[in-house]
Amino acid sequence: MSQEVESDPRAELGILTAALAAHARRLGFRGQRKSESPGSEASPIRVEPPAVRPVAAAPVRQDAPALDRVAPSPAPELPINEMAALAPRKSTPTALDAAVIQAREIRARAQACADLPSLRAAVAACTACSLCKTRTQTVFQDGTGKVPVMFVGEAPGANEDEQGIPFVGRAGALLNDIITKGMGLRREDVSIANVLKCRPPDNRDPSDVEKTLCTPWLDRQIELVDPKVVIPLGGHAAKHLLQSPMASLGSLRARVHERQGRKIVPTFHPAYLLRSPSEKPECWKDIQLAMKELAMPIPGRGGNNPGGVG
Ligand code: URA
Repeated sequence: MSQEVESDPRAELGILTAALAAHARRLGFRGQRKSESPGSEASPIRVEPPAVRPVAAAPVRQDAPALDRVAPSPAPELPINEMAALAPRKSTPTALDAAVIQAREIRARAQACADLPSLRAAVAACTACSLCKTRTQTVFQDGTGKVPVMFVGEAPGANEDEQGIPFVGRAGALLNDIITKGMGLRREDVSIANVLKCRPPDNRDPSDVEKTLCTPWLDRQIELVDPKVVIPLGGHAAKHLLQSPMASLGSLRARVHERQGRKIVPTFHPAYLLRSPSEKPECWKDIQLAMKELAMPIPGRGGNNPGGVG
């Protein structure tokens, strides 16, 4: 039979007071001036719970002793579990903490969008991060409806920012080759988007705050496009979509992942392939993995990838 333990308000008050004193000590606050309390650092502070009735607030007494002049009194040692709760912690929320909270509100707005046009409009009105101040326009996606395959890049570049369409520069031309010459599809058969919907100035890497704030839009976008296969292009998109920030693209590509019922098949970013064309055959291997998932026929030598991707 379990026995209920009655709490003792006096003891609890004693523990709380001791906890506060310990916390104040860690912050460098001294209850007494050193000259008034010699040796107080060495011995545990013990505080006698004051005889206060926990009802109405008492009027402030003009003759009440100032807190820094209250004599120390003994308090019980804190139980070990409560000491752990008092361990030093970051008290100032970081920009990323704030972004995580703000992203919940963005997620609610994204989830309220019933279709891609309304999501596109909500993204166009987004001012969650500072990229809204430097963008020419948001870059939502190329492709209008549900399709079986969706490519996700990193962020719009200068050309995309100008035209409002993802992958329209040199990297976009190579992506077109992957889609048309490699997969035998038309660009309009697929969906193309980015992790970020706004261009980072000078094409710098997306920050964690920007990715956190933009993720709810991408998540809803993927839900509405509802692809069977998502192909992240490059390390940023792969790590983000697979929630593996410390992984390398090398460890993530060349295999099929599954997330929420969708296949994720990461490959190289086309801009990287422009700089390292010797990696094109590896990219072609990844694309073939995706095509198998899509139950598309894989051409043999001389098939529908004549010098295109591989
Ligand atoms: N690079 C990307 O990641 N996305 C684009 O839209 C263009 C270049």
